[in-house]
Amino acid sequence: MPHAELPRPFAGADAPGGRGPHPPRPERLDAPVRSLPGIGPKLAASLGALGVETVRDLLGYRPRRYEPPAPPGRLADLLAGQEATVDVEVVHAGVRPTRRRRLTILEARVRDPSGSVTAIWFNQAWLADRLRPGLRIRLRGALERGELVVRDFDLGGDGRLTYPAPLYRASEAVSSRRLRELIARALPHLRDAADPLPSGLRAALGLPLRADSLWALHRPRSIQEAEAGRRRLAFEELLVLQLGLARRRQRAAGAVAPALGPPGELASRYREALPFGLTDAQERAIAGIDADLARAVPMERLLQGDVGSGKTVVALYALLRAVERGHQGALMVPTETLAEQHLLTVEPICERLGVRCRLVTSGLPARERRAALAAIAAGDADLAIGTHALIQETVSFRSLAVAVVDEQHRFGVEQRAALAGERAPHRLHMTATPIPRTLAFTVYGDLAVSEIDRPPAGRSPVITRWVTHERASEAYTRLRAHLERGRQAYVVCPLVSPSEASVARAAEAEAERLRGAELAGLRVGCLHGQLRPGERRRIMEEFASGALDVLVATTVIEVGIDVPNATIMIVQEADRFGLAQLHQLRGRVGRGEEQSYCLLVSRPKEELTDVACERLQALVDTTDGFELAETDLELRGMGQLLGTRQSGLSDLRFTRLRQDRPLLERARRCAGELVDVEGPLDDEVERVFGDEDHRGLA
Ligand code: ADP
Ligand code: MG
Repeated sequence: MPHAELPRPFAGADAPGGRGPHPPRPERLDAPVRSLPGIGPKLAASLGALGVETVRDLLGYRPRRYEPPAPPGRLADLLAGQEATVDVEVVHAGVRPTRRRRLTILEARVRDPSGSVTAIWFNQAWLADRLRPGLRIRLRGALERGELVVRDFDLGGDGRLTYPAPLYRASEAVSSRRLRELIARALPHLRDAADPLPSGLRAALGLPLRADSLWALHRPRSIQEAEAGRRRLAFEELLVLQLGLARRRQRAAGAVAPALGPPGELASRYREALPFGLTDAQERAIAGIDADLARAVPMERLLQGDVGSGKTVVALYALLRAVERGHQGALMVPTETLAEQHLLTVEPICERLGVRCRLVTSGLPARERRAALAAIAAGDADLAIGTHALIQETVSFRSLAVAVVDEQHRFGVEQRAALAGERAPHRLHMTATPIPRTLAFTVYGDLAVSEIDRPPAGRSPVITRWVTHERASEAYTRLRAHLERGRQAYVVCPLVSPSEASVARAAEAEAERLRGAELAGLRVGCLHGQLRPGERRRIMEEFASGALDVLVATTVIEVGIDVPNATIMIVQEADRFGLAQLHQLRGRVGRGEEQSYCLLVSRPKEELTDVACERLQALVDTTDGFELAETDLELRGMGQLLGTRQSGLSDLRFTRLRQDRPLLERARRCAGELVDVEGPLDDEVERVFGDEDHRGLA
């Protein structure tokens, strides 16, 4: 039988990471995948597109899930439609002629002691040469019209069909099955890695060796074994991240910020000026902030809550706490649109309170910009609102005490670091793309977290519907019905290309088309990233004041736009957007008391990938941003959610947020003990945190 290969014991005596025939050669792991037999430049490029560059990457390529084994059977006992695994011998094989050009069918007559059958493979003509008469093979498949349609097979090589089969995130160029074979070629290199976990720690926690865990991940004998391997790998990556964060924290220790004492008169006037009372969640966040601001240790707090949950109100409170003690505040946001939007909401209330605001963006005319910067330096401005230009360029504040960074996830760790120094302001990081609490701790292990877990009362969740192109006209009928009741609407244009300019042109063209068609007779504005700041501001004001009925826009409206009278949104070609982005966009409606709707229009379902369908369905199913964030992670992988720019985060691939909370806490504790310990883990920390560590040492 070709299946003589015995499953490797898990953490057992001849574990692959144990004694090998040669000493470990860790450098082998950093070799490009092309160093493996049978991988040429073309395949290497396809693997590169999946993020797999090195042997190490290949070994760490996590299965998306496992397919359970099909029960073993005899040919005579096969039932139509039921999957089974059979051990058979090839009688003869060949390619069956077909009329369809893109389809090849390979067929093989196979037999076992109970009988014989024709097995067929689709589009696998390359196999024909290998299916020699007499070859014993194992097949997995089901009978359809008297033929065994093969779904998986083992020619005596690597697939072990009677064990759970790992399914990998694949591409058109590299199938999951192919990945399984390639990974099999890399598995012998497992013994080239030294285990980064200190052995004492490993023993104390009863953790298996890393090599064994990777083995179990790719070749599990049971789902439990795969899971045990995954957990060990998750623990390690969490530990590495926590260790890096702990060391960073150690370096930052000693920085001081102005202690702001208890809230004063401006803070209470602000509360009175608000047209509503604060929610309990907002009050809790404020209490946390007040406690932090009273101390000279710089605040590092993450304020997270779903879109529209009322974070900005809290952020402004924190900024005013600086102003009332004679210091300044800075509000930093990722886009100019958002900066302008914030100015629109913040300025009126500040005016009433006698607080002076300044906008600083790179889009400002040079003279205005210079004037704003001068005012900030002289202390003639209390609050500065701007994009990260505020920190990238050397804006000097007379006395910056509180900095609010909105949409935290869009800033890399680097930018966060840029604000630090001996004299660091108190910092509040806000995110509207909800980061599951576990992840927040993971990633921002050095932050305190306030969560606004429910929106102001009186809001009902946005109702989301998913329709395909051919029913798009119904979506516009619904939209017109809202407008007839005096409401307003958004139409989000598709992401036609990666270039801002062509997206903008497409949005203009679409607005023009709609003015003549579905939206004829309505007042339609168009907003995109290529407009001059003044123009953009004018359009936003017009929409906010009700002078426009519909805003046709690109994703520039993703964040910050706050018009409670807008109650319906159509997203065109919604399948092209990411989940987090769609959730953000949807957050533009449902901001008032009226029931709001979000209509997702996509191409026909048959044309969509499974993942795209899952994304859209997830949006229909829930408005809970935390749940969506976790779904997003499942669909995309952790690194992607956070953006690869953030060093370290893209390396979290084994962690599962929901389940791994206890692991994370354990990793935090262990990291505390290991901060000053030198060891093999340091290589991993350096791999993850890279240059930053060197900067710290310099
Ligand atoms: P976020 O920044 O979390 O997206 P915002 O602070 O912009 O949310 O608030 C969204 C909307 O809810 C705004 O129109 C704001 O005025 C309103 N809002 C905020 N807090 C309250 C509250 N406690 N009661 C009623 N409305 C509120
Ligand atoms: Mg906001």
